[in-house]
Order: sequence, then C-alpha cells, then structure tokens
Amino acid sequence: MDVRLRSAVEAVAEAGYLATAVQRGIAAAGERVLKEDRSPVTVADLAAQAIITARLERDHPSIPLMAEEDARPFGGPGGRQIQEEVLALVEDRLPGITSQELEGLLGRGGHPGGASGTFWVLDPIDGTKGFLRGDQFAIALALIVDGRVELGVVGCPNLPARPGDSRSERGAIFVAARGEGAEQVTSDGRPWAPISVDDVTDPAAGAFCESVESAHSSHGATARVATFLGITAPPYRVDGQTKYAIVARGEASLYLRLPTRPGYREKIWDHAAGSLLVTEAGGKVSHVDGGELDFGSGRTLPNGTGIVVSNGRLHGAVLLAVRRVLAET
Ligand code: AMP
Ligand code: MG
Repeated sequence: MDVRLRSAVEAVAEAGYLATAVQRGIAAAGERVLKEDRSPVTVADLAAQAIITARLERDHPSIPLMAEEDARPFGGPGGRQIQEEVLALVEDRLPGITSQELEGLLGRGGHPGGASGTFWVLDPIDGTKGFLRGDQFAIALALIVDGRVELGVVGCPNLPARPGDSRSERGAIFVAARGEGAEQVTSDGRPWAPISVDDVTDPAAGAFCESVESAHSSHGATARVATFLGITAPPYRVDGQTKYAIVARGEASLYLRLPTRPGYREKIWDHAAGSLLVTEAGGKVSHVDGGELDFGSGRTLPNGTGIVVSNGRLHGAVLLAVRRVLAET
C-alpha cells in the first residue's frame, strides 16, 4: 500500500475511535457549538481534525492540508470550554499537547486548493447532523494531485460491516487508490474485502440513497426522478459520504444529490474521497449535466448543478431523468 494511503487509513482509524467514543457520550446531551453558518460543529469535529492533522504532518510534513474546520470556535462564545474539551479528547493521542499547539494544528487546514500541486482534503466529521443524532457519519480524507483525486479514505465508524446486515459489527473504512480499485478494511485498518458496485441494469430496480437533510438535497426532486424511472424502493437516507460507500459496495445503485437552492457551491471535502471510492469500485460520478467534478478549482466545486452517483450502468438513464425533472421545476 502507498505510504501516504497507509498514513491516511491510520489517521482515519484513530479519529474514528475518538468520534465513536464522543458520539456515545454526547448523543443524549446534544452538546454542540454553532458556526456562523449555524451548522453544528462538535468538539469531536475539532478533535478529529487535530489528531488527523498531527498524524499527517508527522508522516508527510511537506503535504499541505485543506480541512473543513479551524480554530475559530475557540474565540467565540464558550470558546474556552470548547478548547478544554477538545484538549481532553486529543490528549490520549497527543500527550502533553498545549492549547497553543492545538490552535496551531487547527490553523493548518486552510490550504486554498487549486489545479496544481499535492494536498490533503479532510472532512473530519462529515454528516455532523447524523453524528449528533447517533446515526451515520463519515470521516473523509483524500489526496489531490494536480486537481485529481489520487487517494480516498472514508471511515464509517457506525456502519454495519456487512452490507444489509444491521446486526453485524459496526465500523468500516473504505479505501481507494486511483487505478488500483477499492476495498473495505476493518475499523482498525486490517484487510476485509475488495468492493464493487452492483450490476443492476434496470433503473426501476435501482435503489437510491440521498441525504437525510432535505436542506442538502431536494427530496421532492429525487422522488420525482424515482417515479420517472419506476423505482419503487423507498430512498435510503443516510448522512455524510457513507452514501458513496453504500453505492461503492453495491448496497444501493444510486446516490442523488439535487440542488435545494441556486448558488450553493458544494465543498470539495464533501465529495473528494467518496467520489474516488465509487469510480474505483466501477461506478460513475458526475454533475447533472454529465460534467466531471472539478477538484482543482479551490475549496468548492465550480459547477452547481447537483451530483449523480451511480453503478455506471444506470448513469445515462438517470441523467436523462434528472434533467427532465429539473427542467419541469
Ligand atoms: P449530507 O450528510 O449528505 O446531508 O451532507 C452534509 C454536508 O452538506 C455538510 O458537510 C455540508 O458541507 C453540506 N451542505 C450544507 N448546506 C448544503 C446545501 N444547501 N446543499 C448541499 N450541501 C450542503
Ligand atoms: Mg461534510
């Protein structure tokens, strides 16, 4: 395994243990702080980002990082308490870390991205709302080289290891390297199984997944697409890049993310790791107009037309249906 991929898997595994412990502890309390955009960000986001940053920096000091979070919550209301809680969480992994060092770590995720060079992209807890609900979330880390995703790691600490078996043990990490396929490994990074998309060719038989949050993807539009295609299975609603993992391991044929409002620009950390996972598992990822996702244009995707993820075989039919539905509205 590529040494950078090995570091990424281990960093995601460490963060997964931390996040799981926090999720168990805070699910009931609903402990959270609010960013300016009012999306919930928990101490776990910050702690997970800090330990992943520390690990990547130690192993690959010359590769910069673009990450979702930063140290701003420490300067806001209740900042001191948040900082102390984050420090307490990371102490096991980073013994003796000072508050200044913690702020320094969280200040190092500001890479602007762009079409050339190599950088990591991290969403420390993707699907924070699912995390707070005690539900699914993902830890997503990718390596971008000259605008293309080369490595992708999606940790899903709460996902049943066996597809469709809710009683199986929870926790999986999904790993992809460009040109080398995709695999599921255990939550501590040991081999498990190669993964691939399903082979459904009849759109009507294609179960689809989508966001739990209707503010992130239009449930009305996806329902109309499903009707158009004759899909009768109810949508599989799940938070974070877990959706990409679900398509990549053949548990659903489609993931639809249709815009809720014009002008929203998708963040690249919400798609980089997951999209490589699906393409390396044999599937396809594109915008609604069929265009590729452009990871070399900064912190956001330049095209705002929604995202269609499929097992590949269904892609053309689904794009057609999506375009028809969006044209009606
Ligand atoms: P999901 O778990 O699929 O609901 O996606 C979670 C991600 O949605 C968060 O990490 C946000 O970055 C992103 N997000 C926030 N607002 C929107 C929006 N209006 N449209 C699409 N995605 C959004
Ligand atoms: Mg996210």
